[in-house]
Amino acid sequence: MRLEKKVVLITGSGSGIGRSTAKLFAAEGAKLIINDLSKEDGEATVQAIREEGGEAIFIQADVTKADEVEAMINEATDKLGAIDVLFNNAGISGVGPLHELSEELWDRVVNVNMKGVFLPSKYVLPQMIDRKQGNIINMSSTIAEIGLMNRAVYAATKGAVLALTKSMQVDYAPYNIRVNALLPGTILTPFVENYLKNSYDDPEEGLATIRKRQLSGDLGRPEDVARAALFLASDESKFMMGSPLYIDGGVTFG
Ligand code: NAD
Repeated sequence: MRLEKKVVLITGSGSGIGRSTAKLFAAEGAKLIINDLSKEDGEATVQAIREEGGEAIFIQADVTKADEVEAMINEATDKLGAIDVLFNNAGISGVGPLHELSEELWDRVVNVNMKGVFLPSKYVLPQMIDRKQGNIINMSSTIAEIGLMNRAVYAATKGAVLALTKSMQVDYAPYNIRVNALLPGTILTPFVENYLKNSYDDPEEGLATIRKRQLSGDLGRPEDVARAALFLASDESKFMMGSPLYIDGGVTFG
């Protein structure tokens, strides 16, 4: 068991990569706090974990709202103990060329993808500093490194998460806290299914276009990212600090 008795909070774990990671971490002995906006989806993740004999609770909270995040951290700590690993995973997309993007969409994507990393970190860090131990994983994306059409605001936020990760690492290394970033390529989740539906007349054609971009010839699966997250969450990666970890089927360097 690589995460025996570790208390782990994963934001946005009612779906996709977050759910898959939560299931894998629970199977490795962790006690999970499942967070999501959606009660139904979050509770489904908890149920899936419990059916496999794992331990998890659900706390509904919007990661962009300070009062909700603070209450979540307090409740999580009361119920399961101090948080060992925080995975800032929740995120949304925003598609369109910049000149057609509404200010409202810009603000929403920036809020969820950037403030949604800031706030959980802000409220978890004091207990990690006190305990002189902690592990934070931030969800960036290969889009932080590669230009893709119509993804400007999303790319900007994921680039910001990468920069934030490096700065956080420098600030918190003295407290034995590691902060690393995951950079997935295209991973088949509801997030990408919605993108395909909204961006292509024929989603199958969109899928074929994305497949062609991958050296691997196919998209990734949530489990591919979950295994990388497990590596970062465990001591196996103890010499990784402020690092980007690519899980991208070769799309970045291919
Ligand atoms: P997903 O849509 O399947 O899951 C995201 C979850 O986050 C959803 O359950 C959603 O309800 C939740 N969420 C959204 N806003 C929230 C908020 N304000 N508060 C709490 N929860 C909120 O998406 P996914 O593909 O699993 O993506 C997870 C993360 O991985 C995102 O940050 C995404 O940007 C990133 N990512 C995804 C891909 C990909 O190809 N799927 C690639 C690179 C990075």
